[in-house]
Amino acid sequence: MGKKVRTAIEPTRVENYPLWYQQVVKSADLAENSEVRGCMVIKPWGYTIWENIQRNLDAMFKETGHVNAYFPLFIPKSYFEKEAEHVEGFAKECAVVTHTRLEDDGKGGLKPAGKLTEELVVRPTSETIIGASFSKWVNSYRDLPLLINQWANVVRWELRTRMFLRTTEFLWQEGHTVHATETEAMDETYKMLDVYAEFAETYLALPVLKGQKSESEKFPGAVSTYSIEAMMQDRKALQAGTSHFLGQNFAKASNIKFQNAEGTEEYAWTTSWGVSTRLIGALIMAHSDDNGLVLPPRIAPAHIVIVPIIRQEEQRAAVMEYVEKLAAELRAIWYYEKKLVVEVDSRDIAGGEKVWQWIKKGVPIRLEIGPRDMENNSVFMGRRDMAPNEKKGVDVNEFVQEAKKLLDDIQTNIYQKALQFRQEHSHIIDDKAEFYRFFTPKNEENPEIHGGFVRSHWCSSAECEEKIKDDLKVTIRNIPFGEAAENGHCIYCGKDSEKRVIFAKAY
Ligand SMILES: [Zn+2]
Repeated sequence: MGKKVRTAIEPTRVENYPLWYQQVVKSADLAENSEVRGCMVIKPWGYTIWENIQRNLDAMFKETGHVNAYFPLFIPKSYFEKEAEHVEGFAKECAVVTHTRLEDDGKGGLKPAGKLTEELVVRPTSETIIGASFSKWVNSYRDLPLLINQWANVVRWELRTRMFLRTTEFLWQEGHTVHATETEAMDETYKMLDVYAEFAETYLALPVLKGQKSESEKFPGAVSTYSIEAMMQDRKALQAGTSHFLGQNFAKASNIKFQNAEGTEEYAWTTSWGVSTRLIGALIMAHSDDNGLVLPPRIAPAHIVIVPIIRQEEQRAAVMEYVEKLAAELRAIWYYEKKLVVEVDSRDIAGGEKVWQWIKKGVPIRLEIGPRDMENNSVFMGRRDMAPNEKKGVDVNEFVQEAKKLLDDIQTNIYQKALQFRQEHSHIIDDKAEFYRFFTPKNEENPEIHGGFVRSHWCSSAECEEKIKDDLKVTIRNIPFGEAAENGHCIYCGKDSEKRVIFAKAY
């Protein structure tokens, strides 16, 4: 047995993945649990990642013709009652406002008063309240398509929560569109799924699989739901975004009608689509290592950190001048849609400690600069996608010239690592016993990292899907696009099947 290598994060991924995740979040200073159970405080480093997600996605939404608007946080309970499946899907996790004020309770405390005649639900999603506006906005075929997005917070009363992955309140965007025809609404549904996939792969360096959700996993009230699914390093799937074709269900519930070119009144066709702060959870779990967070440069709050190494006070002025000059040069460089963000860490703490803090925060490039580097016109550089001790001296001018290319290189490398990991843990399984073995940990008490993505045949019955879920906690992630039709036998019941679907354990 080799000596255990000390890592900045303990436990390691292999030792205890859920605890490792919590430690990465904590040591990168991304977020913390709040006093309100199930709700988190997103700290500046974590929130800047969200802002970067927002900014870039928002640009993609606008490029595809969407505009932003804002709708109320409160939804009259009766709105939910209009769409039966919808209310059933969300009823168990609604926060309900029943009173409008607080009154002295006569015992030194306060009691709710001013009971509402109709209770208000704190939005868990906005189809019905937005539908109420759309029914007024849409009158003629000339008003269509209507392409709206909202950035907002939502509340779903979760019993078991986990920072970024599942919290009672979270941040998200929800797109809501109205179309004259079924074909146009379907095209929109696919288009936005493509936008999500492109965003996940280009910015988050997250390879995803696009596909359709099974009946039991679709959005409550939708005709069909499509998702992008990513593999985390514990080989579980994470649904990173969804796009729903709502047919005329919500148009009928909210009375969204329009007069067509022939003058006849018709119900419209609608879609909705969303991603949330869950993407930050995906980012953490897909790329980080046993030394902490690893950030793809295109989404990182800072691209480069410079740590001045000053051992004697009389060196300080000269080193700092050299460092500030370099930082200014770097900050003038455009990296995609914004200039490079460069941190100079001049805090009065030991250099080694600083360097480790930045490693844990996932900054793509670290530069350590002391008097000797200054004399040699060089920088001592470390990359976050490589081991912490793989550092090297580089000529300073060369570094400035190559900085953008280096960041692109890191971005690609992080994506390739994630893709390779997914490929290594994706399998085709046709035998039921093997399927069950594959998804069963050897150590039931303290399960080791196991499983992965499995492509197996499925007969399309909800019953087989349910049994597999009950037995193994494995679900159909999606029915992937682009899979060739192929005759086979359902992995559970053995009946005829025409397609393979992706099975996995999931967040
Ligand atoms: Zn079956």
